[in-house]
Amino acid sequence: MNTLETFCTGTLTCFLIAASVCFSASVTTETKVEEAPQSLRFDALKSLGDPSLPGTLPTYFSPHYRAQALAEQRLLGGEVDYYRKELGIRMDLSLGVLDRTQWTKVTADYPYGMPNEDGHPYVILFPANLGDAREMMQAERDVDPAVVRAVKSRGSTWDSAAAKSFNMIGLHEVGHAILEAYGIVPGTRWLNEFLATYIAYAYVESRRPDLRWLWPVIQAGNQLDRPQKHVSLDDFESMYMALVTDDSGDNNYGWYQGQIFEQVKKVYQQHGLAFLKLVRAEFPADSQWFALGNQKTLEKLERISPGFIGWSRKLEANSRRK
Ligand SMILES: [Zn+2]
Repeated sequence: MNTLETFCTGTLTCFLIAASVCFSASVTTETKVEEAPQSLRFDALKSLGDPSLPGTLPTYFSPHYRAQALAEQRLLGGEVDYYRKELGIRMDLSLGVLDRTQWTKVTADYPYGMPNEDGHPYVILFPANLGDAREMMQAERDVDPAVVRAVKSRGSTWDSAAAKSFNMIGLHEVGHAILEAYGIVPGTRWLNEFLATYIAYAYVESRRPDLRWLWPVIQAGNQLDRPQKHVSLDDFESMYMALVTDDSGDNNYGWYQGQIFEQVKKVYQQHGLAFLKLVRAEFPADSQWFALGNQKTLEKLERISPGFIGWSRKLEANSRRK
């Protein structure tokens, strides 16, 4: 998937990595609340009979991928531990680090390589073999040369950086589980994406500054300067699934994710982690998912952190591709 873009596209052609997306938004409706004790996804993961790593983030992995599983458990489990401590949340979350064959036995909705979160209890899927997910990565030739130079100045190849940036998507996916466990019900789909990225970003800023260099890698694939057909938050809400599943190569969904990321950075600098508590007060757990609409959602956010309405208008003012 192209950087923050694509996670959600059913076809794999182009996307890249990015931080976000996720179908989880499309399935996170109130129906998600009255779940059975074990979700179908969790059952499918368990039925693989894979070895597992215990801990606050139980991790199941395809044979021969123990090292990859340990690394992902450490990163994503670190995010879970951080928010358990900071926000006092408790949730039942597992991680599957799977090869392509096993991946397709657990999900038919997400192409191999696209980190994703779904189910109750929550299950995150992450690719065990990133070399087998190259079609999900942005090609070096399509990326801003300045970003490629910055990556290489660190002694990394572009492909290696693109592979590592899948971790940021994983952090975003965990963010979706955390925001729900914390008791936030976003009034719109874009706010759901915003908060998942916010949670991932806050964790990296606070505990994993060594990963900051991967944000530009993800953003490079989102092509913020590329003219898009859809640029407004209204379009994002009304055309969400069409944007997510679009395989035209326009990267419109990634463009939105990238714009959201830029706003996340600004708000975090002003409010830090305290922003999440303010948001929960305005979007409490007894609300209906995505039912508030843009105007009321923006008005609430404007009271918390002035600038959201201006940001929304700025998005709409972007030039549109015919
Ligand atoms: Zn998402």
